[in-house]
Amino acid sequence: MTRDPVAQLLLFGATGDLARRMLLPSLFNLHADGLLPEAFVITGAARQDIDDAGYATMAREALGEFLPDDRKDDAKIDSFVARLRYQACDLSDPKSFPSLAEKVGDVSGGLAIYLSTAPSLFESAIEGLQSVNLTGDTVRVGLEKPLGYDLPSSQEINDTVARAFPETRIFRIDHYLGKETVQNILALRFGNSFFEPVWNARGIDNVQITIAETVGLEDRAGYYEGAGALRDMVTNHILQLLALIAMEPPARFDKDDVRDEKAKVFRSLRPIAPEESQAQTVTGQYFGGAVGGKIVRGYDEELGYDSDVETFVAIKAHVDNWRWQGVPFYLRTGKRMAKRQSEIAIQFKPVPHSMFAGRGGLLQPNTLVIRLQPDETIELLVMAKEPGLDRDGVRLREVPLKLSLDSEFSGQRRRIAYERLLLDLIEGDQTLFVRRDEVEAQWRWTDAIRAGWAANGTKPKHYPAGTWGPSAAIALTERDGVTWQDD
Ligand code: NAP
Repeated sequence: MTRDPVAQLLLFGATGDLARRMLLPSLFNLHADGLLPEAFVITGAARQDIDDAGYATMAREALGEFLPDDRKDDAKIDSFVARLRYQACDLSDPKSFPSLAEKVGDVSGGLAIYLSTAPSLFESAIEGLQSVNLTGDTVRVGLEKPLGYDLPSSQEINDTVARAFPETRIFRIDHYLGKETVQNILALRFGNSFFEPVWNARGIDNVQITIAETVGLEDRAGYYEGAGALRDMVTNHILQLLALIAMEPPARFDKDDVRDEKAKVFRSLRPIAPEESQAQTVTGQYFGGAVGGKIVRGYDEELGYDSDVETFVAIKAHVDNWRWQGVPFYLRTGKRMAKRQSEIAIQFKPVPHSMFAGRGGLLQPNTLVIRLQPDETIELLVMAKEPGLDRDGVRLREVPLKLSLDSEFSGQRRRIAYERLLLDLIEGDQTLFVRRDEVEAQWRWTDAIRAGWAANGTKPKHYPAGTWGPSAAIALTERDGVTWQDD
């Protein structure tokens, strides 16, 4: 694919948490590695009334706080900060835009806009940008999640953005797609011949996708109360992971082929009807407990009032196509879980007959574990014979064939997911960004789940902080004879 770099970046939300913690360090890393175009300029924008020098100081502080020590190179930080400018701007005020356009100047060399602000500001942002001709052919736009809170609100955002930008210039961000291990799912599946023959309902018994956090509400009460675990994690990250596992092989690694195949998976997700909701979904909310040996408060206590928002959800999903007929996809995510762990476990079918049974040898079905957090590893659990003379029977044990990205590629720095996504936005590669039809199919599926909860009056079951969620989540898989992969 031909790369088409723009000459400048306009970063809205430039003073926010995401910008300071992730975006500025990522842009710095690209700069330090010589990956930004020669005269590339970054204009930060937010309401705060500071000037270029004030923003430079803020950026230095953010880099000081969030860059690892071995990346802090004074000369490189100086040359990075020299690329920065700042314009105070209220996105909800149309009068802010002329001075912003003046600051940005000529965009004939290309402009990438990154909207790292609340989506409630997208509409006025797009209208304001249009009013000062900052939406023309040379301009592309990156949108942070959440893209709405249900299908209608997502369509409204998409319609608003589409009035100013064609789909080919819209980059919807799901930062999971920027993670190296997530892209490795594609390498593993489509760069090796041996998985494909068993990568289907004949070879795979079930798939489990877990995103478990140990943190609680942090400072996100306003957002989280309007979202809950389903909308915060499942509608986007978990469904994107599911699509990469379930999709058919794309003909080419490009924006159309990869996204076409993912979209087909989303359209094949079996809707969960209200009458199936109780059997196929579990919601939970943490109460006080201990995480990592530390006593923590319950969700309601953190909030200061009683809430019915779910901080945990587990779902038994199905992809209705030939490849996946009858294979359950167990999805689960929660806050204040026992461990911080994001992983995909693919459990293969057992061997059809065990010749070791008569000699006491016990077999486990093979499992492929793709771990995204806390470390990035891929493990294939296979059966091996324990060394010994076997006079008292054959002893078999599950051992991992392990690919650790950290040790296998130890000479290479592990990049922040946003580095990859920012570079692709700057250079115009949409492959790892989410297309409109994907987002809308994701909402359609999770909206139906929420409608089921509403119809049944479902309230989250309480679980102690520091555990794997309500016991009903364990029952969800145990009923099928399946155990969550929890180590
Ligand atoms: P944040 O800390 O609240 O920052 C919001 C930014 O927007 C600030 O720079 C704020 O600066 C600016 N802003 C607010 N109102 C504005 C207005 N009317 N006009 C212009 N600028 C305005 O939020 P954040 O955590 O950085 O998140 C930004 C976006 O990314 C949100 O949509 C969030 O959901 C998403 N996101 C965040 C994370 C994360 O880890 N933080 C992860 C995934 C997605 P002023 O107050 O000075 O205007």
